[in-house]
Amino acid sequence: MSDVSFPVVIVGHVDHGKSTLVGRLLHDTGALPPARIAALREQSAKRGLDLEFSFLLDSLQLERDQGITVDAAQVWFRGAARRYAVLDAPGHAEFLRNMVTGAAQAEAAVLVLDAEQGLGEQTRRHVYLLSVLGVSGVVVAVNKMDRVGWSQERFLALEAELRGYLSSLGLAPTHVVPLSARHGQNVVERGADSPWYEGPTLIEALDTLPPRPRPTELPLRLPVQDVYRLGDRRVLVGRIETGRLALGDELRLSPGGRQARVLSLENWGGPPREAAEAGESVAVVLDRDVFAERGQVLGTAENPSIESHALTVRLFWLDPEPLRQGERLTLRHGTAETRAAVEAIEAVIDVDALTSAPASQLERNMVARARLRARRPLALDAHGTNPRTGRGVLVRNHRIVGGFVVEHLEPAGSNLT
Ligand code: GDP
Repeated sequence: MSDVSFPVVIVGHVDHGKSTLVGRLLHDTGALPPARIAALREQSAKRGLDLEFSFLLDSLQLERDQGITVDAAQVWFRGAARRYAVLDAPGHAEFLRNMVTGAAQAEAAVLVLDAEQGLGEQTRRHVYLLSVLGVSGVVVAVNKMDRVGWSQERFLALEAELRGYLSSLGLAPTHVVPLSARHGQNVVERGADSPWYEGPTLIEALDTLPPRPRPTELPLRLPVQDVYRLGDRRVLVGRIETGRLALGDELRLSPGGRQARVLSLENWGGPPREAAEAGESVAVVLDRDVFAERGQVLGTAENPSIESHALTVRLFWLDPEPLRQGERLTLRHGTAETRAAVEAIEAVIDVDALTSAPASQLERNMVARARLRARRPLALDAHGTNPRTGRGVLVRNHRIVGGFVVEHLEPAGSNLT
């Protein structure tokens, strides 16, 4: 079994049972120490309940917020195929913000739907978000089936509605699973109340999801954080977002287009390194004294970033104060920061009807297609070709107010090689 955790987000409308489901998954896969279960049982009994799993997540979240246990930050459980890390404790108010700003990089998602309540606007918005952010592995948990008497008819109607909505967004759910998180049916253990259901349990469905390509397999992108001098050489420091690099590689610095080879990889205190890959922080010494600064991106000479200051984005607005067309804000992309104007809000997307219409402003929690013009050229990628460097955030008064993924770039006309 791979020991790299597969990051999963649990999404769905408040009260549809996300916390209960995560608690149930942790419990039934044996991820909870006996002392934790005993404490939960005691806490539940005080409220006249047997085992209320949603309390578990609340207490983990509290410990996480207060920094009591480091372990609490690692909410994870095991399937037969691999280990899953729950990215965001459900009900977390910052969920949308984390997803949109790229703090949470989900590999797959479990969409929790209350069988009684059905598909509402909040659920539709979350699903829409998943589709835009490229989280294509979606398993749907139709929860609280006990509340609808395990009605196959109700389940099939919901499944049809869900599949219709997901496919209109280009997402195909791998599995739609009828279950009860509270009673532990079809989550890890098979339930006795749904003899008509022959599909996998939730954990089995998760195990079938194919992993996304690893960031190391994408072209090299190293946003420069700092530049130091070392004698007559320059040392470029940063964290590799995607790809790999090795001694002798011909690299290109964007914007600007200057090229140089990797002379050495500094490893202060340790033995010299010959190569490094996505996720690692490195200090790169180049063989030519080319000018470099924070905000530039190192890519391979054959496949560098695209230099552009005109970009069409899918934009999520998070601030209570709406975004106005024509407004200027700060755009942050990797380590780069520049002023940018919102040239046009081309279309605000109605997540319910999936229709769109032009608008002069964008309200909180709404999504739009917009055109941005940055004051300085940036080294960018489309989100479709590089999910990690194809995104950025907008900042107003030192606060992150929006997040975007790059749909289309107009390459800048000239290079300064
Ligand atoms: P969240 O806001 O999505 O995290 O939802 P919670 O996990 O807090 O659940 C909301 C309520 O639904 C709680 O009272 C749960 O006990 C209840 N609940 C969750 N799952 C089930 C289920 O499978 N059946 C029933 N009957 N109730 C459930």
